[in-house]
Amino acid sequence: MLRLPKVMAEEIIAHCQARYPKEACGLLAGAEGRVAQVYPMTNVEDSPIGYAMDPKEQLRVEKQMRANGQRMVGIYHSHTASEASPSSVDVRLAISPEFSYVLVSLQDRQQPVLKSYRIDGTTVIPEEVFQVQ
Ligand SMILES: [Zn+2]
Repeated sequence: MLRLPKVMAEEIIAHCQARYPKEACGLLAGAEGRVAQVYPMTNVEDSPIGYAMDPKEQLRVEKQMRANGQRMVGIYHSHTASEASPSSVDVRLAISPEFSYVLVSLQDRQQPVLKSYRIDGTTVIPEEVFQVQ
């Protein structure tokens, strides 16, 4: 289960909306499955059908997380023309079953859909998102 404060779910969705029709991506930091901070990242692919993070920016943000006593709990990105489920590329690029993979679908921009998954090898396991205050 991913515990996601409501304001942070809104922050993630706002970032995805701002980047539309390109995909947006970012990192989620916190502890024990509870998100404490959203770190919007640059999609260096600058694409509507994929994303990649800048390794330098990622290092900087991971350093910042450590300085804040946080660790990475997840990664989010948007799908602008498909459902909120991991694509075969997303599954292939997933690095750890320890992370929550949060997907935001803007297929219907008026009704963004946010879902979370664990990806273990090629196994995709939907994860409950519990919106907390
Ligand atoms: Zn994707």
